[in-house]
Amino acid sequence: MSENQKISEPEILIELLEKEQPVVAMLAPSFPIVYQYPNIAGKLKRLGFAYVVEVSAGAKNTNSAAVEILTKDPKARIITSPCASFVRMIRTKHPHLIKYLGFAANSPMVATARIVKEKYPGHRAIFIGPCNAKKLEANEDYPELEIVSVTYKQMKDVFAHFQIKDEPSDKNAKFDIEETNTRLYPISGGLAQSSLVKDLLADDEVEVVSGWQNCEEALKRFETNDRIRLLDILFCDGGCINGPGIESPLNTDQRREKIIDFWKKGAELPFFSAIKKMLSGLHKSKI
Ligand code: SF4
Repeated sequence: MSENQKISEPEILIELLEKEQPVVAMLAPSFPIVYQYPNIAGKLKRLGFAYVVEVSAGAKNTNSAAVEILTKDPKARIITSPCASFVRMIRTKHPHLIKYLGFAANSPMVATARIVKEKYPGHRAIFIGPCNAKKLEANEDYPELEIVSVTYKQMKDVFAHFQIKDEPSDKNAKFDIEETNTRLYPISGGLAQSSLVKDLLADDEVEVVSGWQNCEEALKRFETNDRIRLLDILFCDGGCINGPGIESPLNTDQRREKIIDFWKKGAELPFFSAIKKMLSGLHKSKI
């Protein structure tokens, strides 16, 4: 490899694992589309991860911060910022809207990496998720956290490199940090739904949008309609469940079902009823 040639994220991960460096896997909430739980936690530990945590844990902090921004200032208006592709579109095409991006609410990946740094000092945080753009967010926006971001597709090669296959014993594994109530995050409107922000704001103050082809129109509406206080927006159709780093034969509805099924398994009952009510209105969002 020449000096100028950059080492890829999967190669960095392979090197860390070969050198038996302490690493923590942060599994994005879209993982039930490609992996089974708890088996994946066991498989990642056999690969060499010291701990396996859910990125839903960080999403809980993202939600709290978003709610705080909206409640502290009744005039506050925010555009959600967990989607790295959308953030880059704003920066390059609509820089005058940067001030609305809710960076005070760290993305779930970043919020989870901060949890990992605090709870497991000396460990490197490895984000495993559906998105290539997360690599840019990690390297360009938060280099101090030293997050290594790999996609599910790339993880296939990492498992193959170390010849790690599925084992029946994996079913006894579990997450070291879990958070059940934010497991809906990868579905379009995940932040608005799971933060219960819809309880705080009127229907016409929240707009949920997904799909790159809908972003420009959504931004026009946000700019011309001051009533919209929260624009919850993701670049991929239907949300991160259709991220480019996912390899799956499932269609969008089937992927959404996988996420909802996994969430249902763990959601706390009062929260479950509240979200169930909201999910019945999900089809009304612009997804
Ligand atoms: S919506 Fe797509 S581009 Fe945006 S963070 Fe999710 S997977 Fe990445």
